[in-house]
Amino acid sequence: MAANYQHELVGVFGQPVAENPTGVMQEAGFAAAGLNWRYLNFEVAPEKLGDAMKALHTFGMRGINLTIPHKVAVIDYLDELSPEAKTIGAVNTVRIENGKLIGENTDGKGFVRGMRQDSGIDPAGKRVVMLGAGGAARAVATELILAGVSDLLVVNRSTDRGEKMVGDLKASTAGPIRFQAWQGTFEVPESADLFVNCTSIGLFPDVNAMPNVDLSRAQPNMLVVDAVFNPPQTKLLTAAKERGLPTLDGLSMLVYQGVIAFQMWTGQDPDEAAMKRALREALGV
Ligand code: NDP
Repeated sequence: MAANYQHELVGVFGQPVAENPTGVMQEAGFAAAGLNWRYLNFEVAPEKLGDAMKALHTFGMRGINLTIPHKVAVIDYLDELSPEAKTIGAVNTVRIENGKLIGENTDGKGFVRGMRQDSGIDPAGKRVVMLGAGGAARAVATELILAGVSDLLVVNRSTDRGEKMVGDLKASTAGPIRFQAWQGTFEVPESADLFVNCTSIGLFPDVNAMPNVDLSRAQPNMLVVDAVFNPPQTKLLTAAKERGLPTLDGLSMLVYQGVIAFQMWTGQDPDEAAMKRALREALGV
């Protein structure tokens, strides 16, 4: 067989990107599948995003991830949006179909898939309390509604942002979503089946921060999930474990948003175990 030294190229546009570990797991997935693909981290300033998106065509790239600060701004440079990305209002993955740039959002899908595969819990019919109303919260809330949760209480510090998100998602999905302002200590109700932190509280370097919540009334099988993956073992998850509650860390969401992007780009199912192993090794956990 003739040698092929030409790589297919995907990657991420963001600023900063030096600490973004997604490429480590994607390249482990490509290697396990025998694909001659590379995933590169590109530092792209906001004013260069248009040029960077044109470069997808110039270099014949197969797709791209977007991270802070490009997840919303990139929409101006796309040909189409998936229905979910439209509802969320943000894109973390672009795939290319017949030369068209199609915006997708795999963050919330990755969250739901992680819940199902790593915790064995289906969100359908579950009563959920979620902290946060930023980009991750929008993606997770959208996919939880599409997965059929019976109640989704969004709790956020800023009332404006929380009400806006809940209003938008109620209008676009007609889902069972409602808002409560976060003042003082939030008491997690006994009725909750699932408690999700989608704020950045606990994110490196502020690793000792913990959401101001009281878990004492939680039912013993309430699953506590943290979107924060750096560090994976957050104060919130430690507090939940101390109460004997089941937990799921942010690496689960991170891996599965990558698994879904891999499938969108290559049309193949990756070796998920290889991707997880590579990510855990890279992060030293
Ligand atoms: P945003 O900046 O869009 O939103 C941040 C959210 O956190 C807002 O709701 C904000 O509330 C809240 N918040 C921040 N600080 C505080 C505080 N001190 N007290 C109360 N609320 C606070 O961030 P993202 O939504 O993009 O990211 C959120 C987290 O999710 C990050 O840690 C990120 O790393 C993680 N993430 C994980 C992914 C994964 O694959 N595991 C994927 C994507 C994100 P307010 O509106 O009041 O400011």
